[in-house]
Amino acid sequence: MEIYLDYAATTPLDEEVLQEMLPLLKENFGNAASLHGYGRRAAYAVETARERVAETAGVKPSEVFFTSCGTEADNWGVRLLGEGSVCVSNIEHAAVLSAAERRAGGVSYAACNREGAVTADAVERALLPDTGLVAVMAVNNETGCLQPLAEISALCKRKGILMFSDCVQAASVLGLKEICSVCDAISLSAHKVYGPKGAGALIVKNGTLKPLIAGGEQERGLRGGTVNAAAVAGFAFALERAQKGREEYARHTARVRDLFESIVLSGLGERVRADGENRAPNISHLTFANGGIALLSRLDLAGIAASGGAACSVHSARPSHVMLAMGRTEEEARAGVRFSFGKHTTEEQAERAARAVISCCGANE
Ligand code: PLP
Repeated sequence: MEIYLDYAATTPLDEEVLQEMLPLLKENFGNAASLHGYGRRAAYAVETARERVAETAGVKPSEVFFTSCGTEADNWGVRLLGEGSVCVSNIEHAAVLSAAERRAGGVSYAACNREGAVTADAVERALLPDTGLVAVMAVNNETGCLQPLAEISALCKRKGILMFSDCVQAASVLGLKEICSVCDAISLSAHKVYGPKGAGALIVKNGTLKPLIAGGEQERGLRGGTVNAAAVAGFAFALERAQKGREEYARHTARVRDLFESIVLSGLGERVRADGENRAPNISHLTFANGGIALLSRLDLAGIAASGGAACSVHSARPSHVMLAMGRTEEEARAGVRFSFGKHTTEEQAERAARAVISCCGANE
């Protein structure tokens, strides 16, 4: 039996969320921009979803822009919010890093420390005279390291700079209301919170947002394209559920994660190192003496689905940019494995997976 320990890559769709979506894929299939009843019903679903996301994040509905995924929301915010250059941390997801390189005003980089945290001091050192936006993620997707958003946001306020945070990994474990109370803009993705693939959001409270996709009048004229009503309705419901249940989620994932980690660490001793002090409860990032793609393949053969860092870069042989930023060697930066836990992970699975990891490492020598 396979054991899925890659919830940070994606989560399965909740049955209740699917039920919420089905009518919008079947009888209420209309185009939300159409004036007739079919269209009005779809538009009602989209606007209700917007209100739900806004209520969940503690913002106004007019501040919520639906996108097709977290990557799109990151691109939109990082490239097209505010003026001047953007200062991004060097451990951001590729969606933020690549978008920052394409920002007309240019980019500067704030370095993380050896624990994988980006301090407000590091951001301050990286600011340029024309920095108009700072982008630091809430939870790092490889290490789970929590970032000090309140301190960074206080710095940004003092300097009159907008603050954006990629909250794609944060939405299941941190309070979005608290985050939105200190940030000017955030990005979200539905499929990380047991919602469907194909939906996300950019929330913008302050700053001028330039258009992303030329076309119709959708998303207040800033993103043309027929809105995926079923996906955004599912997203809004999933996000609401994730935020309501996040404390229990954190308790459960921490329990299975810690059980898994303690067995692996005591079984492998010196041959493994666990990363991250101040981290999200659902992620375990382990660096193995004999890690890398070979170990991941052995784990896969043993029925353990884990990830060698970010899901979207797992097929590349490049070392993890996050590990390199934390001062690790290239070899170490290729030897990390991310195990991520979710609501369906049982203690029995955590124990079985840990024993499989130990035996794969033995086999790897
Ligand atoms: N940002 C972070 C921190 C992520 O972990 C991911 C996905 O792995 C993304 C952005 C991209 O989200 P999506 O898969 O919805 O494009």
